[in-house]
Amino acid sequence: MAASEFELIETYFSHTGGPREDVVLGVGDDCALLQVPRGQLLAVSIDTLVEGIHFLARTDPEALGHKALAVNLSDLAAAGATPAWATLALTLPESDTAWLEAFSAGFTALAERFGVQLVGGDTTRGPLTITVQVHGFADPARVLRRDRACPGDRIGITGSLGDAALALKLSAGVGSAVGIDRALADRLHRPLPRIDEGRALAGLARAAIDISDGLMADLGHICSQSGVGAHIYTDLLPLSGAVAAHIKETGDWSIPLTGGDDYELCFTARPQLTGKIEAEMHRLGCGFSWIGEIEKQPGIRCQGVSGDLLKGMVGGYEHFGTP
Ligand code: ADP
Ligand code: MG
Repeated sequence: MAASEFELIETYFSHTGGPREDVVLGVGDDCALLQVPRGQLLAVSIDTLVEGIHFLARTDPEALGHKALAVNLSDLAAAGATPAWATLALTLPESDTAWLEAFSAGFTALAERFGVQLVGGDTTRGPLTITVQVHGFADPARVLRRDRACPGDRIGITGSLGDAALALKLSAGVGSAVGIDRALADRLHRPLPRIDEGRALAGLARAAIDISDGLMADLGHICSQSGVGAHIYTDLLPLSGAVAAHIKETGDWSIPLTGGDDYELCFTARPQLTGKIEAEMHRLGCGFSWIGEIEKQPGIRCQGVSGDLLKGMVGGYEHFGTP
């Protein structure tokens, strides 16, 4: 079934999340009118998912609705910000109500979980493209940035690394995620942004980033923007049973080191604060690991179990990179 643009907005996107008291005017007018709390910074981030680049045509629309919001909330998490509002620009090849209903359900469930209200957007016709912008609040004295790491800092990681990349690898060629473990598939299709962990780390961690393009690439951003380097140890990397088994079988460390889409937080902290951070993560029930240290010497050195440095573990996905 098809719906007109206005019916579509009214039906699927007018009452998503909220209502929040700081939304003076939401969907339906020329502009949303929003109240930022006094003394807080407005933290803003935007991400686009393009069919054929970020997801395949057959991807479950409910999972897409979830993921489009989740990847944005993950950026707020990396800033230690508290989510508040979202806007959504949807480009659709057709107004397919079954697709819209499922997409909206996935988006709404995650929005409600984190108290986010959808306050506006744009709806156009064309190749399937989903752009979400999120807005959150951050305490200026505690907000987390990429450019604050210092030599001597410990490097921490929430959760585990490589699950999404392994799920992608195992589902490629097979034609669907059928046959791979549900929990592993969820790590790829339904990542959970580390909002509570980011807020807990604000004021404790020195620098932070969310891992969307792989540990080496994203820790690399912290290093280059902070003017430092890093030394990490593969035997300290947090791995799920599935990823550990895959490495045992193949000897391939690229899954946790350069695989993307995990949306875990990578952060650095002065050694004196490690105990406090461990206590906070324990309070939140979040598994986490110290995987190495920040050093003066630029670049990332990745030490394997044998003590040798691994070679060739660089990169991450780059849209305009040469193949
Ligand atoms: P305008 O022409 O003034 O830009 P639109 O017709 O594009 O307005 O949109 C009408 C209202 O619906 C606006 O408030 C806009 O923010 C909202 N809107 C449009 N598309 C979406 C969407 N996909 N999700 C949420 N709100 C939307
Ligand atoms: Mg418009």
